[in-house]
Amino acid sequence: MAKRGDIMYERRLVMVPGPINFDPRVLRELAVEGLDHTSAEFVSSFAETLSMLRKVVHVGGEYQPVVIAGSGTLAMEASVTNFLERGGRALIVSNGYFGDRFAELLSNYDVHMDLLRPDKIGSQVNASKVVEAASKGNYDLITLTHVDTSTGVLQSIREIGKELMNEETIIVVDGVCSVGGEEIKMAEDGIDVLFTGSQKALGVPPGLALIWLSPKALQKLRSIKRSISPYYMNLSRWISIMRSYEEKKPTYFGTPAVNLVVALRKSLELILEEGMEKRYLRHKVLSEAFRNGMKALNLQLLADESSAAHTITAVKLPDAISSSSLVDLVRSMGVLIAKGLIKDINYFRVGHMGTVNANDIVATVAAIERALTKLGYKMRFGDGVAGAQEILHRYGL
Ligand SMILES: *Cc1c(COP(=O)(O)O)cnc(C)c1O
Repeated sequence: MAKRGDIMYERRLVMVPGPINFDPRVLRELAVEGLDHTSAEFVSSFAETLSMLRKVVHVGGEYQPVVIAGSGTLAMEASVTNFLERGGRALIVSNGYFGDRFAELLSNYDVHMDLLRPDKIGSQVNASKVVEAASKGNYDLITLTHVDTSTGVLQSIREIGKELMNEETIIVVDGVCSVGGEEIKMAEDGIDVLFTGSQKALGVPPGLALIWLSPKALQKLRSIKRSISPYYMNLSRWISIMRSYEEKKPTYFGTPAVNLVVALRKSLELILEEGMEKRYLRHKVLSEAFRNGMKALNLQLLADESSAAHTITAVKLPDAISSSSLVDLVRSMGVLIAKGLIKDINYFRVGHMGTVNANDIVATVAAIERALTKLGYKMRFGDGVAGAQEILHRYGL
């Protein structure tokens, strides 16, 4: 009998929460040759990129996008350090590993932090609790994680943003696992600083940190005396570079990642061609199909139903099934899924964002079924697939 290695074809389906499968049209842009950062060709490409970045989060010219070479974590650090002075005050709202990372990174600086967590893992922090804490704490900034990739929890932002919009506090939102997949309307949501990394729902290989700044954030940058922000992360410097590019007059601070920027321009073009509302709907339907598939296999989801993200799902396993064995087995079948990030919980994570389609969901659920069966989990072949199919069919996919 043939062994698996004999009959598999190595085309991989990447269902981890970033990097994702990239559109070949985006990847081809990376192969551009002879592009320098002051050429007219690059300048116009960069200017178009910045203009499209505003559309993706539904804002106009009074908001400033910034593109820097680096990963999402760089964007994260730049997004807080620019708005704090020594002894400044931050409120960190955390639904998991990535929310906690704000506290970890800020512990490197001389600032005061308070941490707000939900009652249990898998829930989100109640908006009223955030507003209440904000009214008492006199914070310079509040951090929210739109989707915590460790738990698959979606934090509702608009309720908080609307309440705090007219306060001085800067609302910083980690949108690394959300921008381009989850609905995020920066102005309506009352967000002052939003950031992401290129490799998640925006569908560009890793290497770009993207940050959007509201008029309130821009004003704060002008008025802050001496922020704790290190040299390369100084947003005021980058803002003037971005503005020069938009005026078609390139100036230099650090060499832009030219190949990645033209790939981002292509990806944004494809995203806007699909249309943001359609894109949000696609992520909603596909995530619902995946969740329904898992529920049909009698598996429990880590995130509460009312706080479930549309870009990633975290799935719990019974103690008898080792999550790392399951993840390894599914990966050996050519479907890349991720292990859990929260200690002491037996679970795995599946990303469904960016280029993901209905076929990817069905294939992923099917591979999980085969792996579970092999690991001795009692289930009937096809139950999970049927659960996913039901939702896909309901939405006419
Ligand atoms: C991936 C991720 C990050 C970190 O981004 P890197 O590009 O890995 O540095 C931060 N926050 C969230 C919510 C993420 O999903």
